Amino acid sequence: MFPKRRQTSTVSIGTLKIGSTEPIRIQSMLTSDTTDIEECIAEITRLDKVNCEIIRLTVPNQKSVDSLHAIRSEMEKRGIQRPLVADVHFNPQLAINVCEFVEKVRINPGNFVDSKKFEAREYTDKQYQEELARVEEKILPLISNLKKYGCALRVGTNHGSLSDRVMNRYGDTSKGMVESALEFLRILRKHDFEETVLSMKSSNPLVMIQAYRQLVIAMESEEMYYPLHLGVTEAGNELDGRIKSAVGIGTLLCDGLGDTIRVSLTEASENEIPVAQSILQSTRARIYNTDFISCPSCGRTFFDLETTTAQIKAFTSHLKGVKIAIMGCVVNGPGEMADADFGYVGAGPGKINLYCGQTCVERNIPSVQAVKRLIELIQEHGKWVDPA
Ligand code: SF4
Repeated sequence: MFPKRRQTSTVSIGTLKIGSTEPIRIQSMLTSDTTDIEECIAEITRLDKVNCEIIRLTVPNQKSVDSLHAIRSEMEKRGIQRPLVADVHFNPQLAINVCEFVEKVRINPGNFVDSKKFEAREYTDKQYQEELARVEEKILPLISNLKKYGCALRVGTNHGSLSDRVMNRYGDTSKGMVESALEFLRILRKHDFEETVLSMKSSNPLVMIQAYRQLVIAMESEEMYYPLHLGVTEAGNELDGRIKSAVGIGTLLCDGLGDTIRVSLTEASENEIPVAQSILQSTRARIYNTDFISCPSCGRTFFDLETTTAQIKAFTSHLKGVKIAIMGCVVNGPGEMADADFGYVGAGPGKINLYCGQTCVERNIPSVQAVKRLIELIQEHGKWVDPA
């Protein structure tokens, strides 16, 4: 069972597409200084090896823009064809300049034009409209260059950096995040720019989940169907970072939302990719390898479930999309292994039953032969491929 995915437009990031029926793309961001070509290329190579599909780098100054040509040509020499995304804050001119060298530009609507002053003042409707006119004026040259170079745009809203204008009117809320994005979307649409992707990041998964859900409703009411980039920002490291990302991104994927994901970890960027793949696999949003279902074992288990599971995984983890259950006992195992294609179920001391779907096809096999017989069963049912 797969979550029914929200229908979106398709956005091209160079030759790679996002949205609609395209696979949910995995991306990451370099931690290297963009002006350090050697370090960037080493990091891009590591990300490429683990199948990171889109690579973002920070562009805080013109020197970084100037480095992109060299980065691109080094990538070409190494046969690395990943699209690059430039992350720009505070400086509309850099966003304009960088369009020539990347496939996508990310801007933050909270700081693209506005610098954070947070002068506590009420905006009259007239003042608010004047501010929006200023945003429009500043974004027009960017739209022009995005179109000229076939570049996509991410309007990347962050909970922690909403503009004074939005903060004063909507407060530090998910509604404020949504409005922040919509202001930009309406201007982009008015000027016929549709290659847009949206994000609503927060370090708090609950805020982030709420903001994405509200954004989708708000966009639908204006007949906007732009793809979504999902992420929990500043999620942290190790277990905390992984769990926060899994909760935030995974919940939305189960809603059928999300077209590209980034797991933000305070670790080497390549560490983010297996976590992203695992979140996609666990939510069945994109299948990378075998789906394993195994019980925790209990007093009813008569074999070493942990060792046996590891052994079965070692032989079968390359079988993309095949679901294999390893269950401790026949009392609850068959019922609990849900939609598994094959089941390995303890039948008593030293005995194993094998299942195809919900049907027991072999009973009381000596456990020493059972893993081999499970593999034969997978082969007999045409689900086996040799490991690469
Ligand atoms: S499937 Fe059986 S062995 Fe596994 S946890 Fe449930 S009752 Fe225990």
